[in-house]
Amino acid sequence: MERLMANETTELEALLMQRSLTDPELLAAAETAADYRILPDATVIKIGGQSVIDRGRAAVYPLVEEIVAARKSHKLMIGTGAGTRARHLYSIAAALNLPAGVLSQLGASVADQNAEMLGQLLAKHGISHVSNAGLSAVPLFLAEVNAVVFAGMPPYGLWMPPAPEGVIPPYRTDAGCFLVAEQFGCKAMIYVKDENGLYDANPKTAKDAKFIARISVDEMKARGLHDSILEFPMLDLLKAARHVREVQVVNGLVPGNLTRALAGEHVGTIITAA
Ligand code: ADP
Ligand code: MG
Repeated sequence: MERLMANETTELEALLMQRSLTDPELLAAAETAADYRILPDATVIKIGGQSVIDRGRAAVYPLVEEIVAARKSHKLMIGTGAGTRARHLYSIAAALNLPAGVLSQLGASVADQNAEMLGQLLAKHGISHVSNAGLSAVPLFLAEVNAVVFAGMPPYGLWMPPAPEGVIPPYRTDAGCFLVAEQFGCKAMIYVKDENGLYDANPKTAKDAKFIARISVDEMKARGLHDSILEFPMLDLLKAARHVREVQVVNGLVPGNLTRALAGEHVGTIITAA
């Protein structure tokens, strides 16, 4: 077995030196390398910007209490959304004809503000916020206090891949948090928002919207729900994921939901890769 792996490594090395990096044979050889989970015991939770943090104390304080209790038995990477202030900035900047990369930086600054506030609320429990989830200190925070807060916006900045239309950055905090969970090979990804999960129409405007407890990415697309409760590029990220093959969206305004979801209970909508 070990010799086989050594051979595979040599073959991969040869291919990497000679071929295009998207050569099919090279990709197949790279695929045989075992996946390594960097932080397999951690769960990433995203605290919604508009849906949760913008609601202020009534929404945030109970979640802070749940987080403080939950970190006794779970390792938590807590990402923040941006929300209404980012939307305001996007509308001003878009009207000024500024590009997606600039809007991305503006959105990131709002997610940072939310991480700063959440970090201060958790400070007395020894939980810090970091300015970059990829920071080498993250494993140390998880080992020492079981939790860390980060801003959910992915750090593309000016290099944000633009959407086919418009200047709104397509990869925002839903995607940023998911990518952290997937790259670190985390145990689970939970989105904390303000609805029980996914409905067949936006429950804020369609009063007869029906709740969907479990759905796959393909089904969501087929039903025209690709741009609903999660940023639409999320669906393709989830579908292509190696580690995090499902995410759960829960209503963080209902006390206990986050705790139950962390325990593996199905309390919201589970969206699956396949
Ligand atoms: P965040 O605060 O994490 O950015 P958003 O406010 O962007 O969260 O997304 C959650 C919102 O998505 C819900 O409050 C809801 O109004 C909206 N939404 C749109 N379509 C749907 C749908 N089909 N099912 C559930 N929520 C939906
Ligand atoms: Mg959002």
